[in-house]
Amino acid sequence: MKLAHSYSRLGTETAFEVLARARALEAQGRSIVHLEIGEPDFNTPENIRNAAKKALDDGYTHYGPSAGLPEARKAVAEYVAKTRGFSVAPEETILVPGGKPIIFFTILALIDAGDEVIYPNPGFPIYESMINYAGGKAVPLPIREENGFDFDPAEFERLLTPKTKLVILNSPANPTGGVMAEATMDRVAAALKKFPDAMVLTDEIYSRVIYKGRHRSIMSLPGMKDRCILLDGFSKTWAMTGWRLGYGVGPKWLIDAMAKLATNDHSCVASFAQIAGIEALNGPQDSVAAMVAEFKRRRDVIVKGLNSLPGFACLTPDASFYVFPNIKGTGLKSKALADALLSEAGVACLPGTSFGSFGEGYLRFSYANSVENIEKALAAMRSALPKLAVPAAR
Ligand code: PLP
Repeated sequence: MKLAHSYSRLGTETAFEVLARARALEAQGRSIVHLEIGEPDFNTPENIRNAAKKALDDGYTHYGPSAGLPEARKAVAEYVAKTRGFSVAPEETILVPGGKPIIFFTILALIDAGDEVIYPNPGFPIYESMINYAGGKAVPLPIREENGFDFDPAEFERLLTPKTKLVILNSPANPTGGVMAEATMDRVAAALKKFPDAMVLTDEIYSRVIYKGRHRSIMSLPGMKDRCILLDGFSKTWAMTGWRLGYGVGPKWLIDAMAKLATNDHSCVASFAQIAGIEALNGPQDSVAAMVAEFKRRRDVIVKGLNSLPGFACLTPDASFYVFPNIKGTGLKSKALADALLSEAGVACLPGTSFGSFGEGYLRFSYANSVENIEKALAAMRSALPKLAVPAAR
């Protein structure tokens, strides 16, 4: 007996593997600082937890429509209209278990064998995994440190072809914390005019975790709404990773296709979780502001600390809760250094190559951990590094 051929093309998210290795070391009595996993360490705000408890008591314990409860779709439509500045109808929204299924469903709904999909590299690993799984041609769009972890619009234009079926964008970005410049976004929208069959998946899951300026969605640009599917969710903004609640916004034909995939896959999202989601969208937002302020404080600590380590150079990202230091000065490859930091310093982080080949020479740290733990990790790395690193000629 053996697995289907298509299965061999499926990738994964290394964060979960590193977490498992870190936990195994902890089980042996080692103390590990977790800077690998991308989830807020805060608890879901109380008003949202209370809304879920009440919903359970009110009987939201049954199946609902595959695309989401009507009241939840309405709340998503209003929230997206308010935060992005374009009008959205409830029929143009779908609630799904987390942000991830929007990647899965968009690709399953749009991509035939051989279709080209442009995606950020380094980028969220599920993009490349799902493109390959669907039999599409994965076309990496390099995200470079020298562009402040944006991409070069000229490079993007060169990758567009008549076979481009989908362009995946992610701003603010995982793993770099980069934000797409307005000029880059404008150039993308202008370039796409010549390729009317290409759709855009705009992953905006970090839209609220920003430290500078306002979030801007490519979907709000003229001519873009009908060809974009927007991904956002509750995991990061309201610390709801374990609830599995996210949403997509897009043209009705694509939302309907996704709803059919949802019927085949998970039927519907937990009804009480959707009621809690409405409270997240419409309720008080002070907890989001407090969380972002605390992330900013931690960002400053980790960026300063990493820049003081031998062989490390770290930009200051304007968004998300990740940093992506350049480690070329250590003389080690990303994976070798990440493995050594886990075993020798007790610091769990991810090699940049977990996010694609253009991540070589970098590590990703998630600073969704306390300042105290971040400082502990920095001190442990400082003492372990001289034993590990081969200072390269810079
Ligand atoms: N998109 C990006 C860029 C992410 O970093 C993540 C989670 O890490 C997701 C989507 C998926 O989020 P969720 O946990 O809501 O499925």
